[in-house]
Amino acid sequence: MSRIKIKDILSSGEVGQKVLVKGWVRTFRSNRFIAINDGSTINNLQAVVNFENESEDTLRRITTSAALAIEGELVASMGKGQNIELHAEKITILGDANPEEYPLQPKKHSMEFLREKAHLRMRTSTMSAVFRVRHALAFAVNKFFNDKGFKYLHTPIITGSDAEGAGEMFRVSTLPLGNPPMTEEGQINFEEDFFGKETNLTVSGQLEAEAGAMSLGEVYTFGPTFRAENSNTSRHLAEFWMIEPEMAFYELEEDMDLAEEMVKYLISHAMEHCADDMEFLNKRAADEDKTKPANERWDLGLLERLNFVVDNSFERITYTEAIDILLQSKPHKKKKFKYPVEWGIDLAAEHERFLVEKHFKKPVIITDYPKDIKAFYMKQNDDGKTVRAMDVLFPGIGEIIGGSQREESLEKLKTRMAEMDIPESELWWYLDLRKFGTAPHSGFGLGFERIVQFVTGMGNIRDVIMFPRTPKSAEF
Ligand code: ATP
Ligand code: MG
Ligand code: MG
Ligand code: MG
Repeated sequence: MSRIKIKDILSSGEVGQKVLVKGWVRTFRSNRFIAINDGSTINNLQAVVNFENESEDTLRRITTSAALAIEGELVASMGKGQNIELHAEKITILGDANPEEYPLQPKKHSMEFLREKAHLRMRTSTMSAVFRVRHALAFAVNKFFNDKGFKYLHTPIITGSDAEGAGEMFRVSTLPLGNPPMTEEGQINFEEDFFGKETNLTVSGQLEAEAGAMSLGEVYTFGPTFRAENSNTSRHLAEFWMIEPEMAFYELEEDMDLAEEMVKYLISHAMEHCADDMEFLNKRAADEDKTKPANERWDLGLLERLNFVVDNSFERITYTEAIDILLQSKPHKKKKFKYPVEWGIDLAAEHERFLVEKHFKKPVIITDYPKDIKAFYMKQNDDGKTVRAMDVLFPGIGEIIGGSQREESLEKLKTRMAEMDIPESELWWYLDLRKFGTAPHSGFGLGFERIVQFVTGMGNIRDVIMFPRTPKSAEF
């Protein structure tokens, strides 16, 4: 008998049909009812044990998380929330899970506890729902761009450049750890390294993607990104995935239009293709909300929030307008912001959240930031003070996208690099893109885990990636 997935049984199984299912026990009640799940859906299949067929030994071994194969017949179910159940005719234990040792019992565990069991936590309903939604979002990213004719490029993970200039890089080296070769000046001699120079894990694929855009027109990368930042927040990881489209001939407005369209597409796709998981996560978010202090509670449920974002246009304001709004705000006047507001500051999470959650009550795109708080490659405005940057800010998360129109003038780019002490010798190839057939172009980076967080309603970014990498934690 060939195996059938539980998702297919629950959606189109027929009474009287003989089936074989394989999966893991979620619960076993009254020595009779097995809730079994194979990962294909959030919903469990109920299998009813026939005592006469099963040995004492088998019954004893049906414990939470044991792996089973069950053959039987589908029958109409009286149980609530299910139309069909499986009358087991033969149960085979594929793998035991000793209840004395198995750490995840069917009670509710805290997210902190589950993080310590990252290799097992995907067996919980919540985490399996999160990872099915994560998959749907990743698939939707590729579908969105493919349908528009964008080309998927794979930019390098090991690179010599620090695209963001923030110095938050993991060094990559093949030099011996104990006593690396040293230069006469007493520095580590990277010339003796496999790569012949100092290299690092990529912080962004943007610069390389720009080279692609200057040939293929519209491209994107979607891969892992690394930042050695010592941030212990609920939205920073040391290893995260980033989606970075880069488009020739786009100006900033078109860049923002694409960002808004893409985010809405991703959210809609997840709601459409993961309806059961989203229903489950919606209930979970509502329960979670009840435990929060009143001023942190949402007035909208998760699904309502997502629909709201899809149905309404994002607010678009300049950085200068944002600062004016903040200066006029109550928290500023009452000195309630931790970081004081003045033109020139990088917006802190509290400022971003005020604008999005309190002032506009919708996603906001902020443009034209001061050049001194942004990366060297952004197109400079004529005012000499600001650059054509744009950040997309979301409720509950803050910055979800950072993007810009890129500086296309070789001279301006060189001047800016000199001002910021970035040696031309490091980015000679990047400058070549301006030397030969330069053109206006734009792009942005969407932090994949942040959109997964927003769509699933998970409060902590560590709970939307399999094995989170954060300071002082790489247990797995
Ligand atoms: P933040 O202000 O949140 O630290 P950033 O401005 O440093 O972000 P960018 O360099 O603009 O980040 O990167 C583009 C996008 O990548 C961000 O908008 C965010 O969605 C995501 N991102 C950046 N850093 C991280 C991180 N450490 N963990 C997860 N996602 C991140
Ligand atoms: Mg940062
Ligand atoms: Mg930022
Ligand atoms: Mg940014």
